[in-house]
Amino acid sequence: MKKGKAEEEWEKLSEEVIAGTSAWREKHPKATMREIEEEIDKRLSVMRARMIADTAMKSGSAEWEAGEKEAVCPECGGELLKKGKKKRKLETREGQEIELEREYGICLRCGHGIFPPR
Ligand SMILES: [Zn+2]
Repeated sequence: MKKGKAEEEWEKLSEEVIAGTSAWREKHPKATMREIEEEIDKRLSVMRARMIADTAMKSGSAEWEAGEKEAVCPECGGELLKKGKKKRKLETREGQEIELEREYGICLRCGHGIFPPR
């Protein structure tokens, strides 16, 4: 299977996690289980946030942005008008902030504004 840009990026990140953890371990040979856990979580959370952002960008909204899918208002079923890309900040469960740039839509019927449909 051909790898996308996102997958290549993830691979690079995972290599950094592995190399970084090994280097850290050498400098902290007496680290406790808890310290090791914290260190690895910290490194993984960066990769995790990137993967969540990339995956979210690819789903549903991408089809809408590309004009392959009609989007309807989740409130009234009216047609959504594209209003251009807007930045949206999300926070992962681990407190990592992710910034997504997504198409924003306004409902022509009720005026409800949303980030793209799923
Ligand atoms: Zn509506």
